[in-house]
Amino acid sequence: TTTAPPELTVRDVTVRFAGLTALDGVSFTVAPGSVHALIGPNGAGKSTCFNVLSGLCRPASGAVTLGGTELTRLAPHRIAALGMARTFQNIVTTQGTVADNLMLGRHALTRAGFTASALRLPGARREQREHLARAREIAELTGLGPHFDSPVGLLSYGDRKRVELARALCLEPRVLLLDEPVAGMNAAERARTAEVVAELRAELGLSVVLVEHDMGLVMRLADEVTVLDFGRTIAHGTPDEVRRDPEVLRAYLGT
Ligand code: ADP
Ligand code: MG
Repeated sequence: TTTAPPELTVRDVTVRFAGLTALDGVSFTVAPGSVHALIGPNGAGKSTCFNVLSGLCRPASGAVTLGGTELTRLAPHRIAALGMARTFQNIVTTQGTVADNLMLGRHALTRAGFTASALRLPGARREQREHLARAREIAELTGLGPHFDSPVGLLSYGDRKRVELARALCLEPRVLLLDEPVAGMNAAERARTAEVVAELRAELGLSVVLVEHDMGLVMRLADEVTVLDFGRTIAHGTPDEVRRDPEVLRAYLGT
């Protein structure tokens, strides 16, 4: 059998903050259309890893490639344009309607540009309509369809947090980085979000990197798991392999 080349490659990435090695030679790959979970205790370096992948943090050494293109020294907007979208751990939008927030997500893809839109040139108007139609589809795909025109301030916490996911999808990414997408959600909201992520992979063939503390969700969604502790990879494998790993149990349970 032939194996498709990885969509995302993280090779030997090291990040240092004054006196602290937040990532220490971390490597993993993400196969096209797969879900790769990145887990580990608080402070393990998971969000820092996302910051490197999205260009917000420059590693001391190591390299990242997306679909074969080296990203390591590119600015965040260039990396986003190449197809890497992310959500943030603690950011939940409170302003505007769902549609407003998703159109903001489409903004990076606008060809006509701001001036043409502001002048209401015919080409820009058509493009705007196409973006709105796609934003509506993405709302449907993420379970936000019924709330498309609602102010996000009126939505449940779970729906509001899912607006972030939908906004990231508006970039039409090849790789989606989800930083604790179900944190703070109740059981029903978690289950709904898990369904959405599974559908994204099945329907859009999207590759997902998932940072999540909810082990049930990780076990259910992930094809592969990388476990970080103090910036180092302490285990890697299928969810079942990782769950039995003595090092992982030690890191989590402190035994
Ligand atoms: P996780 O997401 O796994 O909980 P983080 O990546 O947020 O962990 O943090 C990893 C380590 O790096 C922690 O010790 C954290 O305090 C530190 N850290 C993260 N960002 C910065 C920063 N900008 N400056 C200094 N230290 C940081
Ligand atoms: Mg984090």
